[in-house]
Amino acid sequence: MVYNFSAGPGVLPKEVLNKAAQELVDFEQTGMSVMEMSHRSSHFQEIIDETESLLRELLEIPESYHVLFLQGGASLQFAMIPMNLMTVNKTCDFIHTGTWTGKAMKEAANMGSVNVVASSEDAAFSYIPLIEEINFNEDADYIHICHNNTIYGTKYIDLPSNDRVPLVADMSSSILSEKIDISNFDLIFAGAQKNIGPAGLTIVIIKSELLKRIPNGVPTMLDYRTHVESGSLFNTPPTYSIYMAGLVLKWIKEMGGVAAMEEYNAQKAKLIYDLIDNSWLFNGLAMRAYRSTMNVTFSTGSQSLDRKFLARATEEGLIALNGHKSLGGMRASIYNAMPLEGVEKLVELMKKFEREN
Ligand code: PMP
Repeated sequence: MVYNFSAGPGVLPKEVLNKAAQELVDFEQTGMSVMEMSHRSSHFQEIIDETESLLRELLEIPESYHVLFLQGGASLQFAMIPMNLMTVNKTCDFIHTGTWTGKAMKEAANMGSVNVVASSEDAAFSYIPLIEEINFNEDADYIHICHNNTIYGTKYIDLPSNDRVPLVADMSSSILSEKIDISNFDLIFAGAQKNIGPAGLTIVIIKSELLKRIPNGVPTMLDYRTHVESGSLFNTPPTYSIYMAGLVLKWIKEMGGVAAMEEYNAQKAKLIYDLIDNSWLFNGLAMRAYRSTMNVTFSTGSQSLDRKFLARATEEGLIALNGHKSLGGMRASIYNAMPLEGVEKLVELMKKFEREN
């Protein structure tokens, strides 16, 4: 038995993979695979409609928001967001919390001025800056945050709230893992390959009001209006990834929805954090108040012991626990689909390793 702690593409529910295997060659007696199906067919229309309605139901997305199924990864959103939205005063605010806000800032800077209103770079991105101490700019076209920092294992507890300035959030590694109030955000985006399904699909949830500020001249495929107006079917969308996302969403619903996932995720994360807090060998890399329930980062403080632990974990079938190359140490990505047993096995091994070293 292998438990996959990869940060992304990440673990998918076994039930979903089995269902996809069953339907791989012949989807609902159509005599063909979803992979072979025209994106203009009524069968695929049903798939994409159902996937959208499940996402709307699970996240309680208000009618005033559009849901888009796009390609290009979260990374393309780093450019699409400023192209479409940094159009009024050509300036935006960023809270800089690591690699993914850094990359987004670089793209935004090609299109206007970027204000870094707060940053946690001074402590290796191990925390989220205190929101109440930040001076946001009233003329910013939006505020950009990364809701869960996959590499460092930090997540937001409080959100910037400003009635006038829209809030844009990268939720690639936190979407569907905990309850959120969509109305606190104006645009949410996420690459699918962690909590939604296979890679190749990017989800964007955008408040319809924001479409008004999109200028003319944005290349067709990069203009949000193109995808709103065509129901994400302007060109061939990643059909199989959308189908798989639909299966994952059904699985989340059967598990009790996002609230149940949140409870399950908190239970899994607590097992590892409790061990770290009581360990003389392992230490957590993120500040306690901002610890992620999706990506748990830790280290022994010694590179050679970390390597020894990782080798041992791999032998035991606990794979992809290595930290991001920029940070080192270990990272356990425990997305929705990571079963509790996987985390229990990891914690057992950590205890054993501590006794032996
Ligand atoms: N944002 C976050 C928070 C991520 O974790 C990642 C990928 N790990 C990205 C953006 C980039 O996503 P993609 O590979 O889909 O472009």
